[in-house]
Amino acid sequence: MVILLADAFAPDLPGRLAEFGEVTSDLARLEEAEVIIVRSKTKVDKAMIDKAPRCKYIIRGGVGVDTIDVEYAKSKGIAVDNTPEASSIAVAELAFALMIAMPNHLVAADNSMKQGKWLKKELERTELYGKTLGLIGIGRIGRELALRAKAFGMKVIAYDKYVATSDVAELTTLDEVYANSDYISLHTPLTDETRGMINAASIAKMKKGAYIINTCRGQVVVEQDVADALASGRLAGYATDVYHKEPPENSPLLGAPNVLCTPHLGASTEENLLRLGDAIVTRLKKYTGK
Ligand code: NAD
Repeated sequence: MVILLADAFAPDLPGRLAEFGEVTSDLARLEEAEVIIVRSKTKVDKAMIDKAPRCKYIIRGGVGVDTIDVEYAKSKGIAVDNTPEASSIAVAELAFALMIAMPNHLVAADNSMKQGKWLKKELERTELYGKTLGLIGIGRIGRELALRAKAFGMKVIAYDKYVATSDVAELTTLDEVYANSDYISLHTPLTDETRGMINAASIAKMKKGAYIINTCRGQVVVEQDVADALASGRLAGYATDVYHKEPPENSPLLGAPNVLCTPHLGASTEENLLRLGDAIVTRLKKYTGK
């Protein structure tokens, strides 16, 4: 069988998959592919599925299958899978890095030094110690972030519509998370319920000067509303790894003050690429019975 590796994975993955079939990254061979393996870059939409008549199995190396038209794939008899267990530590560490970078002005400090400025008085830092982190969604990634925040002496509260207990955070209502958090970190999937949930109305319920960290999905926030809240000082900062459109085009966030951006790097650690490889090999073993 032909296995199409459509996106970039660890360099050793093609070799590891060779025991299951012929591995190619040549998209021109889509028509021959029985298994298609993607990360975030390749969107498996109807048009792509129509060009893959032999496909029986699509695996997304990552959390969630929102980059795949699952209903259409299933209507064509194609199984769809993902590897949710692999990326939690990589994403949680990035969320933590973004959370610690904002109140320490790391980017402004570095930029100003390189412009020959010495902003020792101007760049006043604040500490994470004693602050409240509010998580929206406390699944795998939210849990890992909670553990790290507690090690820094933060109080961790969380709202999760589908989770009733937590050993790492005090569960509360969404409005309480908005009202009491100094930092709000988003860890839900993108669904009809979460799309646009961070908007002018929800920001108005937050503490003045709160920070938001978004490593889940760009569409969970209304970018224009976040940009407006940053411009007015209602929000102190917005750190994001994810955007409405990736790469962003004309996003109001790129011109807003106190925005810290990374280009969807959440899962991009060396270690996670190896874990993704392990998870994909496990799935192909099951699929082929080898
Ligand atoms: P998970 O499924 O373990 O946790 C998600 C949590 O969100 C669950 O506990 C669920 O109950 C909760 N939830 C769902 N709908 C909700 C709602 N309406 N309100 C409140 N909570 C709700 O997933 P995870 O592994 O922690 O990943 C979370 C998200 O992170 C993924 O869905 C994906 O979008 C994103 N992600 C981003 C990157 C990146 O590179 N930046 C990498 C991996 C995952």
